Amino acid sequence: TMAPVPKTMSGILIEETGGVEVLKWKTDLPVPELKEGEILVRNEFVGVNFIDTYFRTGLYKSPLPLITGKEAAGTIIAAHPSVHTSDPSLQEGTCVAYVADHAYAELTAVGADRAAAIPAGLATDTAAASLLQGLTALTFVREAAGLARPGDQVKGQGQLGVSEGPWALVHAAAGGTGLMLVQMLAAHGARVIGTAGGEAKCALARGNGAQWVVDSKSEDVVGRVREITGGKGVDVIFDGVGKATFDGDLEMIARKGTLVVFGNASGPVPPVDVLKLGAKNIKLMRPQLVSYIVTKEERAAYTKELFELLLAGKVKVKIHEVYPLKDVGQAHSDLEGRKTAGKLLLKV
Ligand code: NDP
Repeated sequence: TMAPVPKTMSGILIEETGGVEVLKWKTDLPVPELKEGEILVRNEFVGVNFIDTYFRTGLYKSPLPLITGKEAAGTIIAAHPSVHTSDPSLQEGTCVAYVADHAYAELTAVGADRAAAIPAGLATDTAAASLLQGLTALTFVREAAGLARPGDQVKGQGQLGVSEGPWALVHAAAGGTGLMLVQMLAAHGARVIGTAGGEAKCALARGNGAQWVVDSKSEDVVGRVREITGGKGVDVIFDGVGKATFDGDLEMIARKGTLVVFGNASGPVPPVDVLKLGAKNIKLMRPQLVSYIVTKEERAAYTKELFELLLAGKVKVKIHEVYPLKDVGQAHSDLEGRKTAGKLLLKV
């Protein structure tokens, strides 16, 4: 039997945008009321993502006050009656992971279609640490870059049509999303180059499937990539760094390459002159995860595949640190200060 649902809860509230000091710990926030199709999750681990910093600073807009946070894992403590018929697998007591809003709190009301039951054998912290960034890597490799599912692949041939597998470059390859990307790309038969700041991060990227690593702190990335690829350049680039790396991407990309720009860790990329793309017939993409998992079917299929990869040990998660939810400001400073490798979690 479940304990009664409380009236108030603790969590992190943003009342005005700004530095980490605007992340305010509160103990008397109202518990959200369940709407049709929603479940109430008692969060155990909350994933920290770079996007959380964009909402904190105001780079991405949201009405205030805001409880931000885009993913967590925990236990369902209440379900709207409609869920009993629509989603019988998600009931009180079920352990779930989700990608949805307002995760920086003790309790979050989540659309049941946004949540997935955590399979037996997968730890709650692993689920919270892998869902958003794992789905990002999987959907971007498959759909933004157009690489074939490993089983569907002609041996040694990606859909980009090169005999030895396409050249792929991942910026910030030791980051949470970067480590997922290098593993997924290696599993899809790509020849993976990772960039990372410093020796320790480079070693981590290498240990996760980046066959070549370039230290972005001490090496000339564009020049090294030209050498590694024998002058050809890379067929696909995954760039979550943004402003600082975009111009170099246009130099490093191979003719007919795909440039996937998906984040702003160093600031947003300024407006692009599309005429620049013609010299090499570059495909420029700016995908977001949530637009690849719109339907229940898309969400379910990619989540199932990700969980299978994790359970089989084919994809691993590196947890950088687990911070108490109260200390989310420290987590944001570490992430923005490039002090982290792998995934940051908050313990509720
Ligand atoms: P990371 O763990 O990758 O942390 C960011 C890393 O970026 C740093 O560790 C650092 O690595 C690198 N970096 C380079 N320049 C800077 C800079 N000026 N300031 C801060 N960091 C810098 O974070 P996430 O995995 O959470 O996110 C990575 C990127 O992916 C973000 O841009 C994020 O918004 C984006 N993203 C986008 C999604 C989408 O749907 N579009 C979904 C998920 C993530 P190093 O020291 O090695 O340079």
